[in-house]
Amino acid sequence: MTATLIDGKAFAAGIRARVADHVTRIREEAGVTPGLAVVLVGEDPASQVYVRSKGKQTVEVGMASFEHKLDAETDEATLLDLIARLNADPAVHGILVQLPLPPHLDSDLVINSIDPAKDVDGFHISNVGLLGTGQKAMVPCTPLGSLMMLRDHHGSLSGMNAVVIGRSNIVGKPMAMLLLGDSCTVTVAHSRTKDLPAVVRRADIVVAAVGRPEMVQGDWIKPGATVIDVGINRIPAEGGKTRLVGDVHFDSAVQVAGAITPVPGGVGPMTIACLLANTLTACCRAHGLVEPE
Ligand code: NDP
Repeated sequence: MTATLIDGKAFAAGIRARVADHVTRIREEAGVTPGLAVVLVGEDPASQVYVRSKGKQTVEVGMASFEHKLDAETDEATLLDLIARLNADPAVHGILVQLPLPPHLDSDLVINSIDPAKDVDGFHISNVGLLGTGQKAMVPCTPLGSLMMLRDHHGSLSGMNAVVIGRSNIVGKPMAMLLLGDSCTVTVAHSRTKDLPAVVRRADIVVAAVGRPEMVQGDWIKPGATVIDVGINRIPAEGGKTRLVGDVHFDSAVQVAGAITPVPGGVGPMTIACLLANTLTACCRAHGLVEPE
């Protein structure tokens, strides 16, 4: 058996097209253009790539993109002052501070200084609390994109056993909350989990968000399970090049799983698409307009 490939790239393109349509409509009907501000501190190469890609896709769906690049030595007061100005700017509906921040900056303090209504990453403690209590929240983009693919593939997730590997605030924990909200029985595994392969073997749904290249092996997967591979790892390849792999050993997992997301082309494109969708939602809420579905 070979698993069905869940095509995040095509799914994300569909979301972006719907966002673009909605942006056109609110621009024509209400004279409002959604705006996303992205703040990058320092020169981390991966972050620069993400920020460039976010800016490009923001403009492609008809939104305004505001990029703020600050040097790596920027002090906390300067960064907080910028966020205060973005909070007050009516042209900005979404604010994203690219993580990780340089170590001298307190990420929690910075994230919690963003107006929760503009927190399109869903990392502010207010949004975390709203999500955790099943209330309307800004939902972190990577878990949201993963959930959308799962719902699309399965319809209802009710009663399924889900194992999330990883307990980070940006992926693992919100993913677990979302799956719980969809009535899965959720296990969250992490670096201290005993006999991880046995834990994963019980799962109807496996979400791998570990940051370890190809760690999850095919023989850990229950036959027919759905595997969402959040990992993005760059590893050496032939000819001195590099290539991207996930946290799942794709070639063995694809033989056992019922469905699987590839890397690249799975969760990655969904993350930015969900960021754009969240920005549109924030804009509609700010102006009392009909929200996208
Ligand atoms: P973190 O490093 O913050 O968290 C990794 C988690 O994995 C931790 O909870 C850690 O456990 C757990 N872990 C580490 N080693 C093991 C192990 N051997 N066995 C079991 N659990 C382990 O990573 P992120 O959550 O930020 O990201 C995870 C992956 O997802 C990365 O590859 C990242 O690049 C990718 N990513 C992809 C995105 C996308 O758009 N597709 C967006 C964000 C991230 P402990 O808590 O005990 O240390």
